[in-house]
Amino acid sequence: MNKNIVMLGIMGAGKGTQALRLAEFLQVPHISTGEMFRAAAAEQTPLGLKAKKIMESGALVSDEIVVNIVRERLNKSDARDGFILDGFPRTIEQARELEKFRNIDKVFYLDISEDEALKRITGRRECADCKQQYNVYLQPDLKDKCLKCSGPLISRADDKRETVKKRIDNYKRQTMPLKDYYEEKGILEKIEGEKNIEEIFENIKSAL
Ligand code: AMP
Repeated sequence: MNKNIVMLGIMGAGKGTQALRLAEFLQVPHISTGEMFRAAAAEQTPLGLKAKKIMESGALVSDEIVVNIVRERLNKSDARDGFILDGFPRTIEQARELEKFRNIDKVFYLDISEDEALKRITGRRECADCKQQYNVYLQPDLKDKCLKCSGPLISRADDKRETVKKRIDNYKRQTMPLKDYYEEKGILEKIEGEKNIEEIFENIKSAL
């Protein structure tokens, strides 16, 4: 079974949602560089404080920093037999560096339109306490409290409309070329991302 996996797609495509499911299904860790940076920012480590500023501006953290963090994380024993990378690689340079320490079996490219991405990201909410993710655009009945633990629902600081535009531009310029890059290697699986979560997951499982 292919277990060294990369999730690729524009923000809001559902990479995190599908990565979590796939990680549980394959019993391998879900590794999200965005979450690692947000955790470091919350802990106010020197790296976290630096990353926080960059994230809030909508820019990308430097390849060198991200690659080092991922290399360290993939060296941990739980990632020995596989992993789901979510949000990494985001540049061709990161992809080249990644190949130097781990091979990649499959890249799932979740395909949604730019308009859909914009709607989904600006609608995104997260429970401040248990981190459960919601979307006011996809769940119009949602109130301002978490359905699981009643914690307050908040938006990510970098999900503001102006920042999102910038992140989408960066994505098109820096990350989109990875689609061709992995297609040429013959490991890209394009998955239609504007379907319901269960259906998308079934399609991913059958392409494994
Ligand atoms: P995400 O949660 O994946 O949208 O990531 C949030 C932010 O973290 C991004 O907008 C970047 O500033 C930073 N980040 C996450 N992953 C990477 C990466 N692979 N390369 C550079 N910056 C990243």
